[in-house]
Amino acid sequence: MDASRRNQYLASIGVDVWVRRSMPEVVAPVVIEPAVHAPAVEVPVGEAPVALEPLVAEPIAADDRSAAEEIPRSAGGATRDVADRWQALRTEILSCTRCGLHQTRTQGVVGVGPQRTDWMVIGEAPGAEEDRRGEPFVGRAGHLLDAMLRAIGLDRGTNVYIANVLKSRPPNNRDPKPEEVAACLPYLVRQIALLQPRLMLAVGRIAAQNLLGTDLSLGRLRGKVHHFGELNTPLIVTYHPAYLLRTPADKRKAWEDLKFARSVFRQLTGRVGIDGNLS
Ligand code: URA
Repeated sequence: MDASRRNQYLASIGVDVWVRRSMPEVVAPVVIEPAVHAPAVEVPVGEAPVALEPLVAEPIAADDRSAAEEIPRSAGGATRDVADRWQALRTEILSCTRCGLHQTRTQGVVGVGPQRTDWMVIGEAPGAEEDRRGEPFVGRAGHLLDAMLRAIGLDRGTNVYIANVLKSRPPNNRDPKPEEVAACLPYLVRQIALLQPRLMLAVGRIAAQNLLGTDLSLGRLRGKVHHFGELNTPLIVTYHPAYLLRTPADKRKAWEDLKFARSVFRQLTGRVGIDGNLS
């Protein structure tokens, strides 16, 4: 992605382009938590030396998309099997009655994106628009999320899967209840097992706290690499786009988080670009 296009994306989300281009690019040392809920070694975001001139790959071309979706990463994996398991999961979610939310929702909201992908974004729960349309993050907050993701080369149509902790909308967008999270989390775990993402991005306090089993504040959770689940998938926390719409001054911090995530991804995978341009 050339710099002017990226700057346009950043301007569209209200982040001033403040990058000092004369500075050399520095790769952030990744600090990885040793275990799922073990305390992380803190890397204050403001001090994390992130790449100053981002190297972001273009989203994969539409023609390549089907290949990216269909080829499972694990050796010997059966494409058909993965597709069948996604279909079975989808059917289960859409007909789920595990918690009371099925009585008030319009429909279950499974997720959106390729069936296998390196990046996964996880929000809290569908809102009114998502409940109506059956897709996560399609309202105003979703548009901002898309713009933020685009700024690091990610697109729900090609290379990032987006889902929520809850698949059903809580009435009046209230916070999820613990029993609702407990009922729904196994679906997310199955989604992760199918996707096998290299990096997960939790957007917002509610998603982060529920995924990490903590009540630490979002401020305490940002800027470090956590891990989730049996696969120990690296997980980074940032602001919810709805919060950023209310508090635009923090968009800049969200941009720091995205650069941190991209830098971690690079170090985990050895790739310069999001989509696999090897350095
Ligand atoms: N907020 C969320 O957390 N998820 C959505 O899908 C929409 C808004």
